[in-house]
Amino acid sequence: MADKQYKQLGCLDVQPGGGCGFQVRTETEAELMQLVATHAKQCHKLDSIPPEMVAKVQAAVKTVTVAV
Ligand SMILES: [Zn+2]
Repeated sequence: MADKQYKQLGCLDVQPGGGCGFQVRTETEAELMQLVATHAKQCHKLDSIPPEMVAKVQAAVKTVTVAV
């Protein structure tokens, strides 16, 4: 048993009341931003994430510890 740290973010953390249940958990923030960008494109029709939303996303990222 060991503890591993992950970055976690849900769409609702960025857009409360947005009604999107998308959630990601990755090992690095870079990976997370990539998945968020893909999701934003596919589900929210955002070809690129506006800078103010990037800031929101980064502020909302949580670090969670998971026992593996
Ligand atoms: Zn979403």
